[in-house]
Formats: sequence, C-alpha cells, structure tokens
Amino acid sequence: MEKLTILVDMDDTMVDLMSVWIARLNKQYGLSIKNSDICVWDLMQIFTALTKEQIYAPLHDPELWDELQPIEGSVKYIKKLIDDGHNVYVVTSAHYKTFQPKIEKVILKYFPYISWRNVIVTSKKQMIKGDILIDDAVHNHIGGDYRKFLMNAPHNQNYDAEANGMIRVSSWKEIYELIVNICGGVK
Ligand SMILES: [Mg+2]
Repeated sequence: MEKLTILVDMDDTMVDLMSVWIARLNKQYGLSIKNSDICVWDLMQIFTALTKEQIYAPLHDPELWDELQPIEGSVKYIKKLIDDGHNVYVVTSAHYKTFQPKIEKVILKYFPYISWRNVIVTSKKQMIKGDILIDDAVHNHIGGDYRKFLMNAPHNQNYDAEANGMIRVSSWKEIYELIVNICGGVK
C-alpha cells in the first residue's frame, strides 16, 4: 500500500475551535451568534460591533485551549492513518504565544500518539510538501501542491470546492475511506 504524507490542519479540522471562540465572544459581549451564522472566513464581517483586537483576544488566553473538544472521529481516524503507515503532520497557523497551549492542551491531551516534532507551524501552508492537505480554510488549499480535502464548515459553504480542484469532506470517516481508496483499497 502506498504510504502518504498527510498534512492535517488543527483548528476546526482536528478540534472544534470555532464553537469555543464564539461562545467566549457571545458571553463577553452579550451576543448570540451561532456557528451556522459564520458564513464567511473573516469574523470581522460577523462580529461587526467588535474590533479585530476584541475578536482575536480569546485566542491569546491559554485557558481557552483547555475547552476545545475533538471533532467527531478525528482522534480515532488520525490514529488509524498512522497505524496504516502514513506520515501524518499537523500543520497549523499559530501565534508564537499560542503554540505551547496548542501542543499541551490539544495535541498531548487528545492526540498523544502525535509527537510535537510532527507539528509544523506556518501561516503559509503552500510551503509545506505533502500528498494531501486536510483543512477547512480555502486559502490554505489554493496554490498548494497537494491533494486538497476541504473540511466542511459554515464559512466555506458557498465555495465551489469541486470546481476549484478540491474535494469537500464532512467527516473523518469519509476522509479515512477516501485515503484508503487513493492507496488502492483496504490494506
Ligand atoms: Mg482550520
């Protein structure tokens, strides 16, 4: 079976950041924004009463990262991909101050089988070489030299993934099965 290098986004691909982030902002500013309201990537267009600094402040609180929960199936199926012999790298865009909480409170906690050495921090994912990128952000796929699995999210609903060479995926089970197919069937 072909062994692949699989690049996996962390936020809103492995773990649900958006729910926790929105809940923080709603509580702090007395708002009632829902996940399904996040129809664009830029939260400035959703939280129009807040400044960019106010919107991004929760990410700089290390305790926020304690509240994140894995996206259904991510813990199980990423482990299966590694057990199948694939090289899995987490590729995440992170402020230097949030790198440590992301490792300690997300990777070590839920994905202890992934070494921190397999975590790549970059805001330019197209620089990274791999066979597949799994990511909810359209801008991380465009121009990348990898197969593009667009993780379904409210903010990318209106994007025509297929017309732009991407495969829209909506569950980790689906992702796993697609990768098994790419590799020529069940091992
Ligand atoms: Mg993401």
